Formats: sequence, C-alpha cells, structure tokens
Amino acid sequence: MKKILVLGSLSTDFVAITDRRPNVGETVQGNEFFTTFGGKGANQAVAAARLNSNVVMLGKVGVDSFGEDILENLRKNSVDVKCVESVTSVSSGAALITIADSDNSIVYVPGANGKVDGEYVRKNKDTIEACDIAIAQNEVSEDAIEVLAEICIEAKIPFILNPAPYRELKASILEKATYLLPNESECKLLYPDLSIEEAVAKHPNKLVVTMGSKGVFFNDGKESHLVETFKVDAVDTTGAGDTFIGGFATGLVNNLSLEDSIILGNLSASESVTKMGAQGGMPRLEELKNNKN
Ligand code: ADP
Repeated sequence: MKKILVLGSLSTDFVAITDRRPNVGETVQGNEFFTTFGGKGANQAVAAARLNSNVVMLGKVGVDSFGEDILENLRKNSVDVKCVESVTSVSSGAALITIADSDNSIVYVPGANGKVDGEYVRKNKDTIEACDIAIAQNEVSEDAIEVLAEICIEAKIPFILNPAPYRELKASILEKATYLLPNESECKLLYPDLSIEEAVAKHPNKLVVTMGSKGVFFNDGKESHLVETFKVDAVDTTGAGDTFIGGFATGLVNNLSLEDSIILGNLSASESVTKMGAQGGMPRLEELKNNKN
C-alpha cells in the first residue's frame, strides 16, 4: 500500500472558557476546560489516515505526559509514529487558549516542534524514500522543510508544501514544491503583487488555493478553475485546511487526477466543518461514502 509522509508539528491545545479574561496578576474562575490534539502536522496526518491512507509521521515531542498522549492519539488513528523523536531539553508543543466572549487569546509554545531541523530529516532519509508522497507545513524549521524538499526531488517523490501559518520562506523552497497549497490569505501574502487568478495562472498544476466555503482555485495549464466545495451547515471550520490536505494527498497517492484529488479534499473538509474540533470533525472514508456516495 502506498505511503504518505507527513513532516510537521504535534501539539496539545489546552482550552479554558471563561466569562472574562483575567487582568495582570488576577485569577478568574473559568466555566469549562478541555484539551484537544493539534499541530498542523498531526492534523494532516490524522486527516489522511482517517481516509485509510498509510501515513508515516516525522516530528518531535517532549519527554512528558503530553508527548505520550500525542503519540497515543496518533497510534489510535493508525499513524506510524516510529520515527517521531522524544527530546529531553524542551516540553511538547502546547497552545494555551483562553476563550472569553467568543474571542480567543492564545499562547503558543512550539517546544519540541522547534527542534525539528534538517539533521533530523536527513537521518530519516530512508523512511522518506520509502514513501510515495510527502507533506510539510510552516510549523517546523525552514531548514527541515528544505532538506525534505531536496530528498523528495532526488527520489522523485511529489512534495506538497502547505505554507501555513504564513512566514517568509526562501524562493528556492517554494520552487522545489510539486504542489503549493496556501489558503486565500496566505496566497495574498506569498504573492502580494498578484491577484489569486494571476498567481494560479503563473503556477499551473502546482498552486492550489483553498478559499473556504467557495472551494478551491487552480489552473490546469489551459485555464483556471474554481472547484466548488460541497454545501454544508458549517459549525466549526478549525482545521478545515488540514483536513483538505489529508484528502488531497490521499487522492494523489491513489493516482487520482489533480482535479479529482481537489474534489476528495473538498469532500473531506466540507464534512469536517459540520462537527466541532479540528481532528474531531475529520471524517472516515465510510462516512464520506455513506453521506455523499
Ligand atoms: P484554512 O482552514 O486553512 O483557512 P480554508 O478556510 O480555505 O482553509 O478551508 C479549506 C477547505 O475546507 C476549503 O477549500 C473547503 O474545501 C473546506 N471548507 C472550509 N469552509 C467550508 C464551508 N463553510 N463549507 C464547505 N466547505 C468548507
């Protein structure tokens, strides 16, 4: 069975819901607390695995109970975590989220995700070369992404780069990506002098821009298309982009065309936004088959 490699971040969201945000030095009582698993890397790995893809994860956690839980959650979702490293010098990645009056404030601590470097990726070259497609996002170092891109080029493995969250990357890394998958606002930051239309026309069969409830825009070398997403009652769009990428990569690795892979991404992501939570809403293949045929 073909394999998808995901290089990226793994973290836990610690969420407190309160009526009022505390002032400096103040303690307020919260109404609710829960944790959810996150990190764009982990989310994309789970999204693809739920669609029965064979997924191998590369990333790092700390030697703490949060790291153990992160790994256990990935295993439960059938993601191969044998190459995920546990590092002693820092904590696992964590986001401390306070929700008051429907507004978020977030302290994000990259922790072990900040230790994912080129050397670690190079060490896992054989694992990468045994995969059929690779994915990375911007929550690990530029160096790590570049080494992965280079290994993929050498081994002729398609490389999907999701440049999220946006940060400046070397032009050479963007060039090395086989597929570049920003959302609409990331696309505007990547190509500030171009409209979305112009940007996809300049990067045919490569730049695939997710546009929320509108769907996805790309150019097939002849013309630009908007591939509309499915109409649903959205309740929580957290992780929609990550779910899309899991579906898109699953399509490509199963030899679907670029457009059909986009349709699978839309199908999976539109289903996910009908439920709460990033990973919580990610559909299993059976659910897609049942709901939409
Ligand atoms: P991100 O989560 O990275 O900001 P988008 O908002 O562009 O990404 O959403 C990614 C994909 O999720 C869209 O291309 C679409 O397939 C799906 N999606 C997002 N919001 C909706 C919605 N309201 N209805 C249906 N599909 C949606």
